[in-house]
Amino acid sequence: MFIDEVRIHAKGGKGGDGVTAFARQPYEPKGPPDGGDGGNGGSVVLRASRNVASLVDFHHRPHRQAERGRHGSGDRRRGADGDDVVLLVPVGTVVKDEHGTPLADLAAEGDEVVAAPGGRGGRGNAAFRTPRRRSPRFRELGEPPTERWLTLELKLAADVALVGFPNAGKSSLIARLSAARPKIGDYPFTTLSPNLGVVRHDDVDFVVADVPGLIEGAGEGRGLGHDFLRHVERARVLVHVLDCATYEQRDPREDLATVVAELQRYQADLLERPALVLLNKADADPDVAEIVRPDLEADGWEVIVGSAVTGDGCDRLVGRLATIVEGLRDEEPATVAPGRPTTRPVLRPVEEEVTVEATDDGFRVSGPQVERWVAMTDFGNDEAVVYLGNRLARAGVEKALVAAGAREGDSIDLAGVAFDFSPDQSDLPADEREEIDAGGGG
Ligand code: GDP
Ligand code: MG
Repeated sequence: MFIDEVRIHAKGGKGGDGVTAFARQPYEPKGPPDGGDGGNGGSVVLRASRNVASLVDFHHRPHRQAERGRHGSGDRRRGADGDDVVLLVPVGTVVKDEHGTPLADLAAEGDEVVAAPGGRGGRGNAAFRTPRRRSPRFRELGEPPTERWLTLELKLAADVALVGFPNAGKSSLIARLSAARPKIGDYPFTTLSPNLGVVRHDDVDFVVADVPGLIEGAGEGRGLGHDFLRHVERARVLVHVLDCATYEQRDPREDLATVVAELQRYQADLLERPALVLLNKADADPDVAEIVRPDLEADGWEVIVGSAVTGDGCDRLVGRLATIVEGLRDEEPATVAPGRPTTRPVLRPVEEEVTVEATDDGFRVSGPQVERWVAMTDFGNDEAVVYLGNRLARAGVEKALVAAGAREGDSIDLAGVAFDFSPDQSDLPADEREEIDAGGGG
């Protein structure tokens, strides 16, 4: 088994900003607040699909980002949500964090996980209206999105196995067909062997394995063959690669008979799988292919004549393989039981508590929650800043500062924003307390 592994950077969309607006009313300079909320940012979602066979796309494009939410507007209009970005990964992909801890196992067709949730939309000023605060002149900015590195890991299983004598051209064919090849320099070959290639045809992705060392006796465990026969075992389709350039010494029809006998000894039911014959190296000796083809077809083989070197016949081969592989995948019993609730777990990074620490010239408050609240605050607006202060007081930040020795007027670094400490906001009216509890802020 080969392991395909790739790191991706997933970033959700930022939440849209809430707005400050007031309804226009006849004979009144300013009506009730009616600024709408921002839309939520889109999320980066991973979804298992059996028509994807490898993670090769992510090697080329590791950074993926979802769309941001739109800003709200007057008349309580909410901004549109940003679209999710859905990334298709092969069934069997395991998602891990930066430390290698498994977070999700996308084991079945359609399994999904939210790799990077988008930010919530900020609330418009209409949402801040309370009996006591009838005319809020502030809004919340959109929440910053989650952004993180993840590792995707997949045990690659071959869909198509190339079998044939040494030098028949199996490796050349992989190189010729494989989508990975042009980027071969970038691809970590500890994970994807040169004997394995990813082939793409329209929307169908499949893995082709070269099975080297298949010689007489391999079925009994001699030589390299035995290990590699395991690959054949899992493959859905076999391609017999026959060498047409050695006709003086060997007849392709006899080579095929030898390989078939070999497979028969190893595991007879392999011969029941769909199989094609490629008469390879037809460029070297076109006559040979035409001599042997009628016999093979009479025996019931589907035959393609071509060349791994010139590429002749390769499009036809890929097209046929894609059709066969896709057909077999569709035939497989659905791994998702009908009626199963679709779960879409959200991978939220583990959040640390709020930390308060003394610095040379004051105190520093940090922690993801506090940072989000700060990011959602419009610092050009005094009411918004007061609201932030209340929020922090409710979260116990003020008490923690006092406990750490902070006094009125000390300078506080709050997630990068400088403040003077003024611990006077603990006596909140009841309605604001409730509102802050409900608002949460993520
Ligand atoms: P494998 O042992 O089956 O993997 O065979 P290789 O892909 O290593 O090829 C063996 C030799 O045959 C190499 O020298 C290739 O360049 C050559 N070869 C492979 N395919 C073709 C072909 O279609 N035409 C010609 N003329 N030579 C080929
Ligand atoms: Mg080879």
